[in-house]
Amino acid sequence: MSDSIYTLTLNEGREKSLLRRHPWIFSKALSSIPSDLSSGDSVKVVSSQGEFLCYGLASPKSQITVRAISFDENIKITDELIADRIRQAVSLRKNVFDRGNDGVRLVSSEGDLLPGLIADKYNEFIVYSISSAGMERFKDVITKTFNEIYPNCSIYERSDTKSRLKEGLKPRCGVVCGKEPDDCIYVKEEGQVYIPVDIKNGHKTGAYLDQRLSRIKASTLSKNAEVLNCFSYTGGFGLWALKGGAKRIENVDVSENALSKAKAGVVFNHLDPGRCRFLKKDVFAYLREQVEKGVKYDLVILDPPKFAESAANLKKACRGYQDINRLGLKLVRKGGRLLTFSCSGLVDSALFQKIVSDAALDAGVDGRIISTLRQDADHVVSLPCPETFYLKGLEIAVM
Ligand code: SAH
Repeated sequence: MSDSIYTLTLNEGREKSLLRRHPWIFSKALSSIPSDLSSGDSVKVVSSQGEFLCYGLASPKSQITVRAISFDENIKITDELIADRIRQAVSLRKNVFDRGNDGVRLVSSEGDLLPGLIADKYNEFIVYSISSAGMERFKDVITKTFNEIYPNCSIYERSDTKSRLKEGLKPRCGVVCGKEPDDCIYVKEEGQVYIPVDIKNGHKTGAYLDQRLSRIKASTLSKNAEVLNCFSYTGGFGLWALKGGAKRIENVDVSENALSKAKAGVVFNHLDPGRCRFLKKDVFAYLREQVEKGVKYDLVILDPPKFAESAANLKKACRGYQDINRLGLKLVRKGGRLLTFSCSGLVDSALFQKIVSDAALDAGVDGRIISTLRQDADHVVSLPCPETFYLKGLEIAVM
């Protein structure tokens, strides 16, 4: 980084969150934004009194104008700093690999002080996704660092998140180096179950590794159980339920591609396809149908996509969560369980509990929280950035 970087000044009284090391600087907090500030530029941010606060990377097209990278005036943003952070992040995941996982999140954006970079490892493939203009500038460093850490791995890019558009970046996907992945690969979870992963066309980088702990939880609740797995994607919860001895499992999703992978996954894991149904249906409609028919299950799983994309649609999102939870709770037999989740960063644990509580009241169900669930350890949470604790869940017993 040359010394001729822009210095951006915060408006008076706006330095609090940066002093607490929250990494996002919104345009409104800045006194002015130079008209020739380019996407991805390194900048220095100072308080209204001129005191150093951080070095960051600029995204002038986004609402988050700067993402802080270094809070130490002596540590500037260099290739070596980014490479170091990646190496640090990878070494932090050792325990998750040691548990028998071949699918592990290696870099978790803000959680690893690398805002805008997600990287997952699936067997011998590294898949990365760059979502900020700042990280985009370090693409070659990112590739080189993964090549050094994992010389035998291929690298695939899935930089096709919606947030890229807000940064003025075009989507980009494809092989970065090495070989092209097959349409479906199977990745070992906790040394026991193989999860189907579609790197090229699946959601995100191919799988939802964040739900690992909760899938194991589902397994422990599945002995002789009738299980409804809503928003099943490639059937991870269903596979673990079968492993745990489920009598019958229904996987419901709107995606044909995801359901076909879920089916293949049952066969690959030598589990009994005769105990499974794969339903291409809208979950909202299916839950209503089943409630009307008076069907009951021992275990209902609700793992919907992120309903709250922005503060503007938070209310609507809450209604969505409440709807599925009300219907889901009605379908649980007395003595059974609901496992319910939200992956919206904007819905915090207290709000989520309130939503589920209201849903139980509406459903006329007496529910008790037996455990709280969360994203697994490789989806690292940043202390100063609570939004990175995005995935929360509740195990509810129906009395
Ligand atoms: N539980 C999964 C991840 C779920 S991701 C796992 O452990 O891997 C959310 C899924 O919901 C996606 O597969 C998406 O296709 C599906 N989906 C989104 N809206 C839906 C709807 N209204 N009805 C059914 N499925 C839906």
